[in-house]
Amino acid sequence: MSEKSDKLSRDTKLVHSGHKPSDYHGVVGTPVVRTSTIAYDDLAAYENPDTKYRYGRFVTPLSENFTDALTTLENGYNAVVAPSGLGAITSALLGFLNSGDHLLIVDTIYGPTRDFCDDVLIRMGVEVEYYPANIGADIANKVKPNTAVIYMESPGSATFDIQDVPAIVKVAKENDIITMLDNSWASGVLFRPIEHGVNLSILSCTKYINGHSDGMLGAVVADTEKTFNILNRSVRNLGVCAGSEETNLGIRGLKTISIRMKEAGERALKVAKWLEQHEHIQRVYHPALPSHPAHDIWKRDFDGCNGLLSILLKPASKQANKAFVDGLNIFVIGSSWGGYESLLQPQYLKKYRTAEVWEEEGFVARLQIGFEDTQDLIDDLDQALEKFGALL
Ligand SMILES: *Cc1c(COP(=O)(O)O)cnc(C)c1O
Repeated sequence: MSEKSDKLSRDTKLVHSGHKPSDYHGVVGTPVVRTSTIAYDDLAAYENPDTKYRYGRFVTPLSENFTDALTTLENGYNAVVAPSGLGAITSALLGFLNSGDHLLIVDTIYGPTRDFCDDVLIRMGVEVEYYPANIGADIANKVKPNTAVIYMESPGSATFDIQDVPAIVKVAKENDIITMLDNSWASGVLFRPIEHGVNLSILSCTKYINGHSDGMLGAVVADTEKTFNILNRSVRNLGVCAGSEETNLGIRGLKTISIRMKEAGERALKVAKWLEQHEHIQRVYHPALPSHPAHDIWKRDFDGCNGLLSILLKPASKQANKAFVDGLNIFVIGSSWGGYESLLQPQYLKKYRTAEVWEEEGFVARLQIGFEDTQDLIDDLDQALEKFGALL
C-alpha cells in the first residue's frame, strides 16, 4: 500500500496486507512459496548480510507476508512464526531466560505452558513462581533482583481471569523486566498488548487467526528491534519455523478475522447470559458478564469478546456430569477453539492452579460457541442440562 496507509484503520490494512497483486500477474490470493533452498546470484550476494531471503527455515516471501500482517495487527516492530502456539511460547521464554533467573508467571496460564515451565525451565535452573491473576500493582512485592521475565495471559485459560496489564507493565519497566503476554484469546483484534507497553505478544494462530480448525501455527510479535533480535536468535537456534500451507492459512484467516471474532463474541455472550440464569449452572465465566470479577478492567482494555466461555455445574455425581456432556448433540468434545464449530472441553483445575487453589466441587467445562444457529445451541444445552438435572 502507499504512504497514505498510516491513516487507514487496521481492518483495511489487514485486508490489503501481504503481497501486491500487481507483482504476481494480478493474482489476489497469496502465492504459496514452498522452499528450502534459495539461490543466490553470486558470492557477493551470499556474503552480503543484508540479503533478505537466505534459506527456507528463515524469512521467506510467504512468512514475510504473514509477519508483516501480524505486525500491523499488533502494532509491533516485527514478528517471528512458529509451528504452533506452544512453539511460539517456548521460543520466547527460552530466548529471554537464563539459568538462575526468576520467572513470574500467572497462575491461570495455559496448561501446556505450565508443563513446559515445570519441566524444561526448572531443569534449566530457572526459578518459576506463579502469581494470582488479580495481583495488579502488587506484583512489585514478588519482584526479586533476578526476576528476568513476567509472563501474562489475559484473559487466563479456562476461567478468563483478566489481569491489570498496565499496572503490571509499570512495575516491570521500573525494574527492567521483560514482559510477555499470551494474546491468543484476543488474537490481536480485541487487545493489543504492545500498545500497553508489553514487550512480546504471543499468539496461537491455530485459534481465530486460522479460524477453521485445520492447521497448527504460532507467532510472536516484538515491540522493538532490540527485543525482536533476541527473539529471532532464539527461533533460529531452536530451528523453529512454520510450514507453507499453515502459514498461508494464517494469512488467509487474517483477512476475515475481525468479522468472525465480532460475530463469535456476540453469539457467545448470548449463550453465556442464557446459561447464567439456568438453575443447574453454578457459575458462568465470561469477562463481558457484569458478574465477572474483573469486568471493569476488561471493559477498560478490551474491544470485545470471542466465542469462549466456561461453566461450573452445580456439584453432582460423575454420572450426572457424564449425562450432560454425552447428552449434547451439537457440541463436540474437543480441544482448541476459534474454528466454526461448537466445542466442549472438560477442565480439571485442581491440577492446574497453585497460587490460588481451586476449591470448587462442580464439573467445569469450557465451551466454544461456533457458527451453528445460536438458538439450536441453546436448545442443545437445555436438553443436556435436563438430563443432568434428572440425576441430581
Ligand atoms: C491453544 C493455546 C495455546 C497453544 O497453541 P497451539 O497452537 O495449540 O500450540 C497457547 N495459549 C493459549 C491461551 C491457547 O488457548
